Amino acid sequence: MTNRAVFDVAVIGGGLHGLSAALHLGRAGKRVVVLERAWVGRHASGASAAGVRTLNRDVRELDLSLESMEMWQGIASLVGDDCGFHARGQICVAEDTMNLSKLEARVVELSAKGYTHEAIIDAKELRRQVPAISAHCVGASIAVDNGAADPHRALAAFRRSAQAAGVVIREGCGVRRIERRGSDWAIDTDRSPDGPAQQAEPLVVPIVVNAAGAWAGRIAAMVGDVIPLGTKASMMIVSERIAPMIEPVVSIMGRSLSFKQSDQGTLVIGGGLQGVPDLDRETSEVRMGILCKGARAATDLFPCVRDVRIVRVWSGLEAKTADMLPVIGPAVNAPGVFHSFGYSGHGFQLVPVVGAALTDLIVSGTTRRAIAALSARRLMVASPSEVSA
Ligand SMILES: Cc1cc2nc3c(=O)[nH]c(=O)nc-3n(C[C@H](O)[C@H](O)[C@H](O)COP(=O)(O)OP(=O)(O)OC[C@H]3O[C@@H](n4cnc5c(N)ncnc54)[C@H](O)[C@@H]3O)c2cc1C
Repeated sequence: MTNRAVFDVAVIGGGLHGLSAALHLGRAGKRVVVLERAWVGRHASGASAAGVRTLNRDVRELDLSLESMEMWQGIASLVGDDCGFHARGQICVAEDTMNLSKLEARVVELSAKGYTHEAIIDAKELRRQVPAISAHCVGASIAVDNGAADPHRALAAFRRSAQAAGVVIREGCGVRRIERRGSDWAIDTDRSPDGPAQQAEPLVVPIVVNAAGAWAGRIAAMVGDVIPLGTKASMMIVSERIAPMIEPVVSIMGRSLSFKQSDQGTLVIGGGLQGVPDLDRETSEVRMGILCKGARAATDLFPCVRDVRIVRVWSGLEAKTADMLPVIGPAVNAPGVFHSFGYSGHGFQLVPVVGAALTDLIVSGTTRRAIAALSARRLMVASPSEVSA
């Protein structure tokens, strides 16, 4: 028995991007199955700091990101839960006048292009907004409607909503091979998408969404799109609970830091410091020596947290592209295959909108959403031997 006619779309990857695509497609009337090798949220989406940020975004993804920000402001209307999202602002602090000049130049450049979502605040206003900030900081840029969410609430909400829209989620179901079969794609998996028994026949579908995170380059190569990808293993620190001390999410110009306080009172510290990725073992390792730099940046900025205890650290895997922008849109060499990967450390914020953009493309063949600069073609190489990672 083949599974043709059971599903219109197979989404590979049960992270937030796979779930978002599945949700929007399900609501558009498509019969969707999500094939997840481990479990929903196992990798980047479950490890994320969940910052929801337009601040300091590359202009090539800014319009898409701004639309996603609007969707975050009303996220409960999309997935029936606020996903723990609070718009308490994101602030990028300058520790000296040279870095403040860089932030000012960006705001001027953005405003010349018609963008008004970032502004500069002086040292006095910075201290009003973030009283615990170190006295040496001279100013900052701010995006007031930015914030952060709870990644696990987001995963639960997207999963629930997708299932309510008829989406079938198969966990423990890794994709091993994809082959063209007429105008369809035949997908071999580790396990039957319809149950626990070993699958005798491949799943056959006309449409495939590649949302396989750190492994998406391997899925792309299976269908003939050779896209070199690096791997990120971003690390996080979580502290013990302390009394409320900060509202916005704070980063530093020129240093790796993202610093916020959760609703539970823990400090959540990240910013892109890198552990050791291991794609074949599907895991990554924390490098404590490197993580110290994040702790140092945090205490430089907030001397009052010097004695706060760290209770947990982790790292999570995801793909990074050569230009640190994602790949969103149709495959180049595979009709009916659509990519959504390479989020390079900042894909959480884009989750609501990218699923909608892919659904536009799949359902109507076109989208008004701003994905033109994010095509697969810009990163393609001619042959697999040119792939470095
Ligand atoms: C520590 C950390 C902090 C971050 N902080 C932020 C932040 O503050 N703000 C922000 O915007 N972004 C942040 N990000 C990035 C963001 O979390 C990711 O961009 C986003 O979660 C990517 O989602 P995804 O669905 O594409 O990937 P993933 O969540 O990794 O999902 C991909 C899934 O595909 C599955 N898969 C892979 N291969 C196969 C296969 N062959 N068959 C079946 N399934 C397969 C995997 O098991 C995985 O579950 C952070 C990331 C990390 C790791």
